[in-house]
Order: sequence, then structure tokens, then C-alpha cells
Amino acid sequence: MLGTALALFEMKRNQWRSPHDLREISEKKMLALLAHAKGTTSFYKTRLSLPAAAVRSLDDLPSVPTTSKADVRDQPASFISSAFPQSSLRQTHTSGSTGVQVPLYFTESESSYGIALETHQLTECGAGPFDLQARITHYESAPNLLQRFGVFRCSYLPVQGEESDNLRALSLMRPGIVISYPSILLPLARINQSEKRNLKFKMALAGGELLAPSARQAISSSFSCPIYDRYGSMESSWAAWECKDGSLHIQDDWVYLEILDKQGVPVKDGREGSIALTPLWRKAMPLIRYQSGDIGAIGGRCRCGRGLRTLKLRAGREDDVIVLPSGRIRSARSINLMDDIRGILAYQIVQESPGLFIFRYVPGTGLGEQGKSEIQRRIGHGCLGEKVQVEFVSLDSIPRGRTGKLRTVISKVRPDARV
Ligand SMILES: [Zn+2]
Repeated sequence: MLGTALALFEMKRNQWRSPHDLREISEKKMLALLAHAKGTTSFYKTRLSLPAAAVRSLDDLPSVPTTSKADVRDQPASFISSAFPQSSLRQTHTSGSTGVQVPLYFTESESSYGIALETHQLTECGAGPFDLQARITHYESAPNLLQRFGVFRCSYLPVQGEESDNLRALSLMRPGIVISYPSILLPLARINQSEKRNLKFKMALAGGELLAPSARQAISSSFSCPIYDRYGSMESSWAAWECKDGSLHIQDDWVYLEILDKQGVPVKDGREGSIALTPLWRKAMPLIRYQSGDIGAIGGRCRCGRGLRTLKLRAGREDDVIVLPSGRIRSARSINLMDDIRGILAYQIVQESPGLFIFRYVPGTGLGEQGKSEIQRRIGHGCLGEKVQVEFVSLDSIPRGRTGKLRTVISKVRPDARV
């Protein structure tokens, strides 16, 4: 709680500093993190001991090789800092959006960064402390002390729930703010419009997937409210957030973001490249110049006056949905929860036709019959029990999509297809 409050205070203060001052803050935190990582993790002890990797300022940072998801997946223990007792660490793993499972370790106090940044964005965009937040998510968090007193209260709805059930629950709950993935909010917005349910919010907050302009417009108009975007990952937590003036501001003082060319060299501002992130807050399991797999560019100054740099993400595809045999549309999120299936390194689900899904996977220790039937069960469940067939294809690697990211679900069925 105290950690969240302190982080929030720092964010409120630092956002108006000049780009020069913010860079100095990032640099100071980066140098401290590099020393910590070199001194307490075996992976960076080796990597940062190379004479070429001597870093005295942010300008020297490109001499440090980038870290890939495969580095962490193959030897996660080598990233864990010896400065923290094992018993104080919590473990999670990366979400389904990339298809490569990476275990992540963090301390209780480190988790306060993400909470603080979300609260920061909500309050900067006009949310009040007593606006009820409805979250349609995979998880549910126990209320903290403030929330028990009604401040920043949250209610949770299941991401796998039927749209009509979630809409009904939202109508009863009357939250001020709705928070979810674009692919979850969009079908809700469409039903709200077509069935004239007239559900309105003060604000919608998206994240976790690219928010396409058409989805933004549809959600905002259906719920008669502005919608704000965020960018981040499980590894970095939120790295950038959208202000009221529509810019995605990089949280420079907490997550250092670089745009790199194929050789790992930073490109000029405005040029597109792959996004590498260094979460400056991550001490229990440092990740330095971590390749996110996303493509973007540094944008210009925002008219809001904040000194935080801005990010432009390459627009994503707009079809993060699957179409059921009955013609009903579901979020791709309702079938992508396969990260805990043992024996596979990466996966991708391709919907070939409304009744046929191909589960493509890169075998690790091997996918057994039990794993296969569990995958079939989950896809069937996500398809609301409609009759669908699942076929399995083992591959050496899964090709990356146009955005540079491995997409876990691809549907070849057009949403307007009639069966
Ligand atoms: Zn701004």
C-alpha cells in the first residue's frame, strides 16, 4: 500500500519534468539496475562483465546485448537475484499474447508499480476515487485496505463469460469505468448498440492487445465515453499509457523503452523498429533490454505538456475474434489460455473454419494425450459448448505475424460469414 502511494506520488511529480530531467532519472535508475544485475544474477554477471558492455551513461547502453524471451525461458533461475530470499518471491508467467511461456519472479513490493501506474492513468484521465471499476479479466484480486473503504473499488467479471451475461451484470453494477481487452469490449459494445441497451460509462480502459481505430470508435460511441489505451507486457508491466490528449506516454522513469533495428542499435526518433524494454523497477528478476516482440516508433511531444516521451505502435489487425458455428462472435481471449499446458514451448491456434481449429505447437518435453484432451476441452468451453473439432500439428517454430508478435489465435473466418 505504502509502496503504491509513493510510486503514485513520484509519477504525478515526474510527469511534468522536462525530457532532459526525465532522461537523467532513467539513467540513474538504469546504472543502479545494471550494477545490481551484474552483482546478483548469474546471467548478467556473465553478460555485463564483457569489456564491451561497460556502461557509464544511457548512450553506452547499446553495447549491452538484448535479452530474448528464449534466454529467460531456457534458464529462468539465472535471472533471479541472490539479493532476495527465494521465499519472498512470487511467481507468475507471461500471458497468452505471445505464445512463448516465460516464468517471472517478483516481490510483493514490485507489484505495486503496475497498480500505481494504472491508478495514475485513471486519475489523470478524469476518474474519481469513488468510481466503481468493472474489470473483465482472467484474475481477481482481493481488495486492499482503501478498496475496503470504497476507494478505487473493483468488481470482476470473467473473461470467458458470455457477452449477454456480462452486459447484464454491468447493467446491474452500474460501474463508472470498464476495464478489459479490446477484443472483449468490442463485442459488448456491438450488442449494447444493436440491442439498444443504452449502457453508458464514464470511461473505458483498454490494454493487453492493440486497440484498432475502428474498435476504439465503436466502443467509445456505444458506451458514450472516451476510451484510453495502454501498452505493456507481463515482463515490464505497463510501459506506456494514453493521456486525455491521445498520446501514448512512455513511463520513462520506471520502464526504459528503446526502439531498435535488427542489429539491436537504437533507431532515430520517428523511425519504426522493435521495442526493447528495461523495467527499471524489476530487481528480483532483472530484465535488461528485453525484446518485447512488438513494433513501434518514438512519437513527438504531446500537447498536454508532459515531458514523458510518446510511443506509436504499429497498428494491429482488427480480427482478434473467432466465429462460432452458430455465427456468434467470441473474443480470441476465450480460447487462448493454454500457458500452463505442460510439454510445449509455444503454440498458436488457427481457426480454419467455424467448426475446425488447428492447434499448432512447438513440442518441448512432448504433448501427451492428457494435454491434448485438456486443450480440446478448453477450446470447446471457450466456444460455449458448440460442436468444434481440434486438430494438432507439431512444428519446429511458429512464424511471426506482420506486427512482429506471435499471435496465439488467428481466425481465417470472417465475422460476417454465414454457415
Ligand atoms: Zn499527453
